[in-house]
Amino acid sequence: MTTATRLPSAPTDPWRSHPTQIVSIVDETPGVRTYELAFEEVAIRAGYTFAAGQFNMLYLPGIGEAAISVSSDPDHRSTIAHTVRAVGNVTDALARLAVGEQVLVRGPFGTPWPTDGVEGTRRRDRGRRPGSRLAAGCDPPPFAA
Ligand SMILES: Cc1cc2nc3c(=O)[nH]c(=O)nc-3n(C[C@H](O)[C@H](O)[C@H](O)COP(=O)(O)OP(=O)(O)OC[C@H]3O[C@@H](n4cnc5c(N)ncnc54)[C@H](O)[C@@H]3O)c2cc1C
Repeated sequence: MTTATRLPSAPTDPWRSHPTQIVSIVDETPGVRTYELAFEEVAIRAGYTFAAGQFNMLYLPGIGEAAISVSSDPDHRSTIAHTVRAVGNVTDALARLAVGEQVLVRGPFGTPWPTDGVEGTRRRDRGRRPGSRLAAGCDPPPFAA
C-alpha cells in the first residue's frame, strides 16, 4: 500500500491558475527583481499556504509559464514574493509589468526543505540547533523564505 506524504503546505488546487496583482516591485540587482503578489480572490488568499523551498508556476497569458520559487516568509500570508532573473520569454515579459498589473499563479509545487528544529533568524527559532545550507543556480530565492 502506498502512503501519501502530507506536505506542511495545504494548497488550494495547484493545477488551477489564480489571478494575483503585483503590489510591489523591488530591484535587487541588475536584471533581478522581487515581485510581491496578492491573490485577487479573498478565499484563495486565505487558503494558499506554502513552505520554504517550494515554487509556483507564474503564468502570463499569451506568453507562457515559468517555475519560480517563493522567496517570502511562509508565515506572512497576505502576499507572496518571487525573486526573478529576467532571462527569457516569461521573465522578460514579467520585467515589463508594473505595480497593479496581473500575474496568474498556480502552486505550490515541490518538496519543502526540512527546516523543523533548525535555527533561523526569527524569534521563534531561538534555542534551535544551528543550520547551514548551500545554494546555487535558481536556489537562492527560496533561502529568503
Ligand atoms: C523549481 C524551479 C524553481 C525556480 N525558481 C526560480 C526563481 O526563484 N527565480 C528565477 O529567476 N528563476 C527560477 N527558476 C528558473 C526559471 O524557471 C527559468 O529561468 C525559466 O526558464 C524562465 O522562463 P522564461 O520563459 O523567462 O525563459 P525561457 O524563454 O524559457 O529561456 C530560458 C533560457 O533558455 C534560453 N533559451 C530560450 N530559448 C532558446 C533557444 N531557442 N535556444 C537557446 N536558448 C534558448 C534563454 O536565453 C534563457 O537563458 C526556477 C526553475 C525551477 C525548475
